[in-house]
Amino acid sequence: MKPSPFEYVRPETLDEALAVLARDPDESKVLAGGQSLIPMMNFRLARPERLVDINSIPDLAGTTTRDGRLHVGARTRHLTLQNTDLPGPLGHLLRRAAVNVGHLPIRTRGTFGGSIAHCDAASEWCLVATLLDAEMTVRSAARGERTIAAADFFQSIFTTAMESDEILTSISLPSLDDGYVTGISEFARRAGDFAIVAATAAVQVKDGVVTDARVSLGGVSEVPFRSTAAESAMLGQQWSPELVATAAEEAAAEVDPPSDTHGDADYRRDLVRALVPRALATTSPANR
Ligand SMILES: Cc1cc2nc3c(=O)[nH]c(=O)nc-3n(C[C@H](O)[C@H](O)[C@H](O)COP(=O)(O)OP(=O)(O)OC[C@H]3O[C@@H](n4cnc5c(N)ncnc54)[C@H](O)[C@@H]3O)c2cc1C
Repeated sequence: MKPSPFEYVRPETLDEALAVLARDPDESKVLAGGQSLIPMMNFRLARPERLVDINSIPDLAGTTTRDGRLHVGARTRHLTLQNTDLPGPLGHLLRRAAVNVGHLPIRTRGTFGGSIAHCDAASEWCLVATLLDAEMTVRSAARGERTIAAADFFQSIFTTAMESDEILTSISLPSLDDGYVTGISEFARRAGDFAIVAATAAVQVKDGVVTDARVSLGGVSEVPFRSTAAESAMLGQQWSPELVATAAEEAAAEVDPPSDTHGDADYRRDLVRALVPRALATTSPANR
């Protein structure tokens, strides 16, 4: 299939891009890596009249650390994060998550911000953002900049809190201290496919006791799901294999997954039961 005809604009500054977008926001789309938008246009599931290509805007790419947070420019490629030399548990999680995003050509073009803006509930970056309470910075020509917490940002399938005249400029994540251990585990039928179910975890263990526990799940609801039941089960407890098994049971009992051609609700619940321990296995202090 070929897309409907569209106007293509490639601004070189963010202000220019925002001005073009402001002209007719509901008929325009931001083009980042094009790895989700272009297939949708080819299938005529999206028919924007104008594409605003942000690939020539230098400020939007790359990562910086300041004020205890990692700031990831929205058009930072998946591959950049796969190859990041960021030390510690956050760097570990970013590398492990990135390698699960599609295939190499997709990781070469696709962007961190594009995934977050696209808002697929099984997307690794949406899961990581939910897991770590990421903050999304967005900008419009009319209202300037605002920051949206992950809990408010992901609203439903392919729907975020961004307005159509806004561009996502950066995403910030907490720089986890060395007390944290992090992991991701997922199941897809074929390598490179979106996960049917995915689990990510970040657990802080001090003197053998869990002092912070975070678990997020993909493929079980319309948006990435924070398993508060699994987190509460671990918090304040002695870290042990039994605790991990309990957390997995709690997560499986808490989710209410959809059924579709990829797997019914019970199958997805079983995957949660299997994947939470695998994500936590990579976080085990013994494996650090
Ligand atoms: C075969 C295949 C397998 C894939 N497998 C996976 C997978 O396993 N896991 C996964 O997470 N993804 C997967 N993807 C999707 C891939 O990760 C995309 O890169 C990602 O979903 C979108 O990023 P993009 O930069 O390509 O965005 P685009 O396709 O350019 O844009 C996607 C949407 O986000 C909007 N947008 C993009 N950037 C911004 C911005 N800065 N501000 C405002 N709006 C913006 C666009 O307007 C559009 O609506 C797969 C894709 C393919 C084709």
